[in-house]
Amino acid sequence: MPSIKLHDTLTGEKREFVPLHEGRVGMYVCGPTTYDYAHIGHARVAIVFDMLRRFFEYMGYDVVLISNITDVDDKIINKANEIGEDPIKMAHRYAREYLKDMDSLRVRRANIIPKATRHIEEIISLIEKLIERGYAYESDGDIYFAVEKFKEYGKLSHRKIEDMLAGARVEISEKKRNPLDFALWKAAKPNEPSWPSPWGPGRPGWHIECSAMSMAYLGPTLDIHGGGADLIFPHHENEIAQSEAATGKTFARYWMHVGLVRFEEEKMSKSIGNVFLIRDLVKKYPPEALRVMYINSHYRKPFDFSEKNMEGARGILEKIWSVYQLLREEEGDKISEDVKKRISRTRERILQALCDDFNTREAMREYLEFMNYARDLKKGDAKAARAFMEEMDEIFDILPRNEGGRERELIELLLEVRRRERERKNYDIADFIRNELSKIGIKIEDAKNGTRWYRV
Ligand SMILES: [Zn+2]
Repeated sequence: MPSIKLHDTLTGEKREFVPLHEGRVGMYVCGPTTYDYAHIGHARVAIVFDMLRRFFEYMGYDVVLISNITDVDDKIINKANEIGEDPIKMAHRYAREYLKDMDSLRVRRANIIPKATRHIEEIISLIEKLIERGYAYESDGDIYFAVEKFKEYGKLSHRKIEDMLAGARVEISEKKRNPLDFALWKAAKPNEPSWPSPWGPGRPGWHIECSAMSMAYLGPTLDIHGGGADLIFPHHENEIAQSEAATGKTFARYWMHVGLVRFEEEKMSKSIGNVFLIRDLVKKYPPEALRVMYINSHYRKPFDFSEKNMEGARGILEKIWSVYQLLREEEGDKISEDVKKRISRTRERILQALCDDFNTREAMREYLEFMNYARDLKKGDAKAARAFMEEMDEIFDILPRNEGGRERELIELLLEVRRRERERKNYDIADFIRNELSKIGIKIEDAKNGTRWYRV
């Protein structure tokens, strides 16, 4: 088995993955700030880390995945004020919707999904530590992190403090000593949610919550810290600064960032405006198609979203499902040597691709090549190929579900009714059954030896 290599944003290199504790992986992935419904960009981050987690598990690791919900923030407060809802209640409502949307994409839930407002104590004690160690200061009820005190500031995003000051849109404030300093704690303003603290009522800044919550569950050093590429600066840069300033230890051994999903706003209204949100997308496409679309791209590269890409992914998914369906119809025990070899070679190549900085695109290419080969297999060979697809599905999770048991029986029953109606030349009823099944994603194909069905 090849060793796993991951591209680390901090060093800019692919490095062999060596966990802090043998056989274990502690992963923290920044989750959404919940003030709206989840979109295809959220889904990419969630799907990539979901598959990475499954891959580690497949390789025999114990994985603990922590993925937070930011439930107090300017954006949340602004929107809640706009619609006249309590900000925290609204954030929790959207958090529930976010999790439902991700469930629909077969994203397994993280082991712990911490919320910022439930960790105020940990946040306050981390801030106290930073003040104690001289990295943070109070100013009029706010607490700021003093960026120039942390000598390595800029190491993750590869920026220099001078350049940041010159180029960036830094928020100038009377309260800050340096324009790059960022708020750890914000003094309460009227009509904002607030919590008591040693510096008076207020609420945490965004960056500090991830440092506090990741360390609360995973300790001072995480194996992998992940998120979208848009978080590298300032969010993750600030997280490293706070965490390492407080503990004096390496905060994350590997930093992984998922490329942004791009779409032109103008085009959006015309071509993808209607599937931009996950809840809309899954009405038009099978959710697994979105997984296939992202598997088929390299996770670090930006992705240009379009309906054409979605159609393409649906095509690939249908191909995979139709081969799987064919293989399911075969039974037998004998497996030829050729097929055994081909399966183990394909497995090896797929794992090699995944070990090489989680190259799912290359893995999918091998998988699809195997589909072309497997579709004509019969009996025991077909059964072995099907078992191999199911094995790989521990990582990809794209094969059709729920076809066993009661649902399958009911579909078969409907098809039998349709067959009898056709015999009596009641074509309107037969067509009605076919059309209605198609509406719920079940496609029928009439062939000489009977009717086949599969999901689309
Ligand atoms: Zn975060």
